[in-house]
Amino acid sequence: MKKKCDLLIHNAQLITCTDNGQPFGLVNMGALACKQGKIIWLGPNTQTAEFIADEIINAQGQVVTPGLIDSHTHLVFAGSRANEFAMRLSGASYEEIANAGGGILSTVNATRLASLSELTTSTCARLQHLKSQGVLTVEIKSGYGLDFDNEIKMLKAAKAAGEQVGIDVKKTLLAAHALPPEFSNNRGGYIDLICQKIIPYVAKNKLADAVDAFCEGIGFSYEETKQVFDAAARWGLPVKLHADQLSDLGGAGLVAEYGGLSADHIEYTSLASIKRMAESDTVATLLPYAFYALQETQKPPIDAFRKNGIDMAIATDSNPGTAPTTNLLQCLHMACCQFGLTVEEAILGVTINAAKALGIDDLKGSLEVGKVAEMVLWDTSEIADLVYWQGDNKVQQIILPN
Ligand SMILES: [Zn+2]
Repeated sequence: MKKKCDLLIHNAQLITCTDNGQPFGLVNMGALACKQGKIIWLGPNTQTAEFIADEIINAQGQVVTPGLIDSHTHLVFAGSRANEFAMRLSGASYEEIANAGGGILSTVNATRLASLSELTTSTCARLQHLKSQGVLTVEIKSGYGLDFDNEIKMLKAAKAAGEQVGIDVKKTLLAAHALPPEFSNNRGGYIDLICQKIIPYVAKNKLADAVDAFCEGIGFSYEETKQVFDAAARWGLPVKLHADQLSDLGGAGLVAEYGGLSADHIEYTSLASIKRMAESDTVATLLPYAFYALQETQKPPIDAFRKNGIDMAIATDSNPGTAPTTNLLQCLHMACCQFGLTVEEAILGVTINAAKALGIDDLKGSLEVGKVAEMVLWDTSEIADLVYWQGDNKVQQIILPN
């Protein structure tokens, strides 16, 4: 007797992103069946006769991947930093701009003034652009509110924008992004606000899926970050960290100590921290666009990540200051050309490893039985095409669970 399914895709180059012994987990000329929003079968084309499907897609030999995942963005914000971009090109450093009251705080001022609905609308436009490139799961951080009401407003805008655009948004509380001006002489007071008021409220009301911080000379110290992580742990929220971007404060090792999901940026991460990341399966999230836009020269220690078996994710870091982009495919190209990743590492960086960086790899990031039926059919039979032609977009069809 034939099995019923909602959707059958056949004649596809299935890029499963699993460990099946083939590069990319390729199933050459394969097929898969979906039912009630989940993948229920995957195998060779020759076995599709076993199924009756409501909808059939003949991929005609083209590539099918899992929906791409952008695991690190700051998509909710108001205002523009075009002027700061010009300043930086005139020679001012990121630290000089921050110390002069620019940088993150200029976005904070604009974001505090914006309404929830204004923030939602501008975020939708950015999300829509990501979706058009096959990005079907996006992480969005708060961190431009820097007080109770505005951090909560940002998390609500992220949620609303995901619902309006129809893609899955994972929300991260990044209240420890910068010190708000009203606490400039009271660092401890702001950390207390985060730990005693914001994190408990966010956890109780399920407003965020994780907690993040900016552990850096111009952000928060190792000890302050530890306090934020302790509060997150008390409230059962996983942690991730902006770590070792401009200097080595031991941030990647710290987030690993807390069993964190990911250490992000990590240009200056030491071997000792990498060893800790390996022990805790903490993902190394590479942000090549920020590296490029800041004209950094210190590259992340890719070879050491490889040697120690660290999974690498790639994300846009989309933000108005240091990564003004919503082009994840371009970031794949940049990760290969700037950091020397292989095409396979790049693809895994926006699928299964990005899912690990968000703690959702039991549901997403690969084509496997039981996972969410969230896929992209591309107008190419060569997976390298997704990485190769910078700025190109070969999405042919987006498949979302119904
Ligand atoms: Zn970031």
